[in-house]
Amino acid sequence: MSVPPLRLRPHHILCSLGFEGHGYSDTFTANMEAIVVGRLRAALGDATMVEITATADAICAPCPRKRGQGCEAQFEIDTLDTAHGAALGVSAGERLTWGEAQDRVRARIKPDDLDVICAGCRWLDLGLCKSAVARLQG
Ligand code: SF4
Repeated sequence: MSVPPLRLRPHHILCSLGFEGHGYSDTFTANMEAIVVGRLRAALGDATMVEITATADAICAPCPRKRGQGCEAQFEIDTLDTAHGAALGVSAGERLTWGEAQDRVRARIKPDDLDVICAGCRWLDLGLCKSAVARLQG
């Protein structure tokens, strides 16, 4: 039986890359830990098939701000997705492996780009996501 692809919003590619245990609730963080650490950063994690979505994804699933397939902060989420989708060159319905998603980041994103595409995110000032992009680029 084949494993279904991991559904991710465009901006959750970079959020997953930079994840270091912060989240919106204990349940949210535990779920993100399972996805990011348990799957994407595990051995063979780069082969994980990802499907880009414009609606609530695997990371959103237990979020206290989720409303149906949307978000109580829909405008902010749509703004992030639009900026990240354009920067990474991904759009809803596209499938790529996690390794290919990281290749997009490596080729198209510089750490300071996050000041623009992540504007308004509460985690930006921690610097973890910029550091993760910098590490990826060696
Ligand atoms: S700064 Fe925020 S939106 Fe940008 S990658 Fe990090 S967690 Fe995601």
